[in-house]
Amino acid sequence: TTDIDKLSKRMQKFVEGKRMEIKNLTERDSFRRDFLGNVAHELKTPLFTVQGYILTLLEGAGNDKEIRKKYLERANKGVERLVAVTKDLDMIAKLETDGLKINIEVLNILELIQNVFDLFEMKAKKRNITLKFDRVYEFPVFVKGDVEKIEQVLINLVVNSIKYGKPNGTTVIAIDSYNKSKYVVRVADNGEGIKQQHLPRLFERFYRVDQSRSREQGGSGLGLSIVKHIVEAHDQTIFLKSTYGEGSEFSFTMEKAI
Ligand code: ADP
Repeated sequence: TTDIDKLSKRMQKFVEGKRMEIKNLTERDSFRRDFLGNVAHELKTPLFTVQGYILTLLEGAGNDKEIRKKYLERANKGVERLVAVTKDLDMIAKLETDGLKINIEVLNILELIQNVFDLFEMKAKKRNITLKFDRVYEFPVFVKGDVEKIEQVLINLVVNSIKYGKPNGTTVIAIDSYNKSKYVVRVADNGEGIKQQHLPRLFERFYRVDQSRSREQGGSGLGLSIVKHIVEAHDQTIFLKSTYGEGSEFSFTMEKAI
């Protein structure tokens, strides 16, 4: 009987293994279908808008100079959205195919933050938001990371803090020592904040608290999923603290280089 018991246990294990395999495949399949559906939707909406304006212009609305300008501006907004979504999709595709190809080098994170601030100074000004660098360290802070990808993380977090920040608000970036071997980079805003119930899903692809608000801000709904992907590909951790109505703080760890 012990042999039969052993055999039956092995059979059970085998069947259980196959069951898990099928479950994983089915989940991946439905995940893929959802993803495709979301992509189609993200492209379709602005594309139809652009088409609508172009058709109206072709039908003669363009004869009036004012109307022509207004419609062209709206069509251009749609194109801008398409470009943003396409860029983010491209980034996700790259991360998926060479996700492990993280090019680790020693980089000065202070310099990288300054670059990102310079890039978005105008955008912040337009919304009356101040970008502040809480410079505890006056010397270069060297960390290990992929320059382009970490810059992308900073860009996405800073852009979000501007998009969802309150006018006259402030975005503060700070770096602290996290433990012996890591720093933590924090991007904090005093903007609209996020309700607790959304926090667990916020890093999912296409997850948004407010669809129309995100779209009106030119968001693809992919920014934070890209951030998480990059941070985790560095074997680092991302944290999020947020209080609805008060503001949010996104932070991530980075390996100290020296
Ligand atoms: P999106 O393109 O919609 O900005 P993200 O993936 O970057 O996509 O962010 C997902 C959602 O998380 C946003 O739609 C927004 O609701 C919320 N969010 C992101 N950053 C912030 C922030 N700093 N403050 C408040 N809400 C935020």
